[in-house]
Amino acid sequence: MAKTVKAPLKINAERLYGSLADLGKLGAYKDETTGLIGVNRLALTAADGEGRRLVTKRLREAGLQVTVDQIGNVYGRRQGREDGLAPLILGSHIDSVPTAGAFDGCLGVLGALEVIRALDDLRFVTRRPIMVAFFTDEEGCRFGTDMLGSATATGRLSLETAYALKDRDGLTVKGELEKLGFLGCEPVGALRPHAYLECHIEQGPLLRGKGLDVGIVTGVQAISWHELTLTGKSAHAGTTPMSFRRDAGLAAARLNCALREMALSGPYGKEMRAAMGAVSLTPNMVNVVPGRALCTVDLRNPSDELMAKAEKDFARLCEKIASQDGVTITSRRTAKTPHVPFDASVQALLASTADGLGLSHEPILSGAGHDAQEWSRVCKTAMVFVPGEYDGISHNPREFSTSRQCSDGVNVLLGAALVLAEEA
Ligand SMILES: [Zn+2]
Repeated sequence: MAKTVKAPLKINAERLYGSLADLGKLGAYKDETTGLIGVNRLALTAADGEGRRLVTKRLREAGLQVTVDQIGNVYGRRQGREDGLAPLILGSHIDSVPTAGAFDGCLGVLGALEVIRALDDLRFVTRRPIMVAFFTDEEGCRFGTDMLGSATATGRLSLETAYALKDRDGLTVKGELEKLGFLGCEPVGALRPHAYLECHIEQGPLLRGKGLDVGIVTGVQAISWHELTLTGKSAHAGTTPMSFRRDAGLAAARLNCALREMALSGPYGKEMRAAMGAVSLTPNMVNVVPGRALCTVDLRNPSDELMAKAEKDFARLCEKIASQDGVTITSRRTAKTPHVPFDASVQALLASTADGLGLSHEPILSGAGHDAQEWSRVCKTAMVFVPGEYDGISHNPREFSTSRQCSDGVNVLLGAALVLAEEA
């Protein structure tokens, strides 16, 4: 067994890219909009089950001891020299939005596996145990709550609440976990790691635009999700005079426009973001004025204070449009996470590791939510981002990072993991 490792150690880039391609075949579909082959592994569907089984198999093949917890998070544990010490966790997710590429989340999980393989190739055993993890339903598209697995594992969400969440067909998280064979027995919430690291694609244009190799993530901005029901009155599109209408579809459209204006109006800072991502009208017919609109709103801001102001003003906006258009608007907040700053010492470690590898880097705030934000509540945590091509487009089959971009990020993960796993 090797006692020390000469820096900088590197992972096998080709093997990593091969694993990403293999996993990307599961849940593959032909995307109508782009004409490309995309990935659809919505959480706890049959395709997600296939992905879970493949990755679990790979973890076992790497000699890891695999456990599944009560919310279906999967952990592969590699023993340490001082095996009783708290582990280092390297993780992310393998579930996807219905129109995904092969990199989101998967890079963090398969990259972590590649870190283990690199250590195995060297026959090097770290002081602390290392765990490779993937967490249930990070995306939140199916059951409405993102970071489901990691939030439950770290105590933000109770197991009962998580189990009871339902998809549009009324199927529960617990039932679907059971169906897939991933309702594990490892108690959730018991794990207290020494540190948590995650490598992820940026999912935005900044790193690629600046020609940087990697980004050292300073934290995750505040996120607030809302589900709105607009109720008016459905009516005949030909016989009902315009002035008699209570058009819920029109009110939703107006609200969407007003939301954009509000986001750009200034008081919430330059980084304010808002989107009405889903709108569904009832009865959704060519010749009927819609009586009901269901829509979702996603608000993001790096500052908790500015986010609170935006939420308050958005609620007022709803009241205003409801009275203008003669509809009622009820709103339910479906998710809320505050601005999460990552650990400064781990950020510094990632930066110095990148320096050692000769990689250019800058600090970057994450616009998207990640499992790391949940772990940062229970242990020191940070993330490394890799750039994406095509303006870093993500949640889209065009999502693409080169083998070099992926391996740069995972090499930083490996270097930092070696330091953290050796800490007393
Ligand atoms: Zn992700």
